[in-house]
Amino acid sequence: MARSYASQRVSGFSETVFAKYTRLAQAAGAINLGQGFPDFDPPEFVRAALREAASGYQQYAPLPGLPVLLEALAHKLGPELSADHLQVTVGATEGLFASMQALLDPGDEVVLIEPFYDAYPADVTMAGGVPRYVPLTPLADGRWSLDLDELRAAFTPLTKAIILNTPHNPTGKVFTAAELDAVVALAEEFDAVIIADEVYEHIAFVPHLPVASRPGAWPRTITLSSVGKTFSVTGWKIGWAVGPQPLISALRLAHQWIPFAVATPLQQAAASILQQAEASGYYAELMALYRRKRDLLVAALAGSPLKPLTSEGSYFVMADSSALGLDDVALCDALPGRVGVAAIPPSAFYSEAHKPLAKHLIRLAFCKSDEALCQAGERLKGLAEAFA
Ligand code: PMP
Ligand code: GLN
Repeated sequence: MARSYASQRVSGFSETVFAKYTRLAQAAGAINLGQGFPDFDPPEFVRAALREAASGYQQYAPLPGLPVLLEALAHKLGPELSADHLQVTVGATEGLFASMQALLDPGDEVVLIEPFYDAYPADVTMAGGVPRYVPLTPLADGRWSLDLDELRAAFTPLTKAIILNTPHNPTGKVFTAAELDAVVALAEEFDAVIIADEVYEHIAFVPHLPVASRPGAWPRTITLSSVGKTFSVTGWKIGWAVGPQPLISALRLAHQWIPFAVATPLQQAAASILQQAEASGYYAELMALYRRKRDLLVAALAGSPLKPLTSEGSYFVMADSSALGLDDVALCDALPGRVGVAAIPPSAFYSEAHKPLAKHLIRLAFCKSDEALCQAGERLKGLAEAFA
């Protein structure tokens, strides 16, 4: 057998579900409702900003970020914010990794809400931390609820942080004021940091409440976001962390050894699109676009055995697949070849002990062209026969 060079830190990992199901989709020529990336072009003003940045400055950016991007972020997030409160990151992905590296000592616990974005437990364990899981429960009306007693039970004297993603991938849940306030109260009681992952902040069909704006939250919250979802440029990998100076300076100590500085032309382009978006009404258009795409996919699933739950935000919807009787991995493995559609099995977003909760769920992405969504719906109507 070939020798493995993988450290203990990484040897438990396997290929991510996003890589796997995009590979299966491509091999089968299937419509990819799996990995969340738009299959359509970003708006022209976004492409133009990148073209313009190609003729600008091309050397290392300062450590906190390009001044013009920090200015654009302060304009968006709060004029009182300076470089002390902001760190440009390589997407929210690096913001998450750097946060965990910066905050955790071995054995520190981090509360994760299930289903989780798959990077969270990996980031926690690579930093020597221990995840503590709290599952969301789907309600009869299709929404997802957070049990506040279970949340409290996950906090211990070892809790260093909680990662909270709103709007939430993969459920589409937008956390309520009461839920956010309960998280803040527990974080205060246990002196924990809140990592607010708000990459879908502009894709919310009910009001999105930024975690850091809840009473008491700011001094203990790092908010992460990026341009990827908002501007349909997931390949740019330009993100940011915003928070109080002591938290951002800790994060920066880790960040400086990860990328050192983030791609200068892409920061330049990100600054330009952020400046243009606010004035042009772009964010409202984006929200309306995704509301329509969500409704299109949900309507296209009528008559299929997949019963969509409620998506209040993000560009994902979960659906109940119990009518098919297969478990989520078996279903998603066979789907591209048998039906010509790819999707993600949500057990990838649950801890080992809670994977059975995902057995009859499937995650579908609606950040795809209208034609792809309608055609996928047609194909999924034949699902029961394909698996009979
Ligand atoms: N958090 C969540 C919840 C996500 O869905 C994603 C998208 N992949 C990320 C973080 C990573 O964002 P980025 O592409 O900006 O690194
Ligand atoms: N966030 C995207 C999703 O949830 C994928 C990101 C990735 O490929 N790592 O589908």
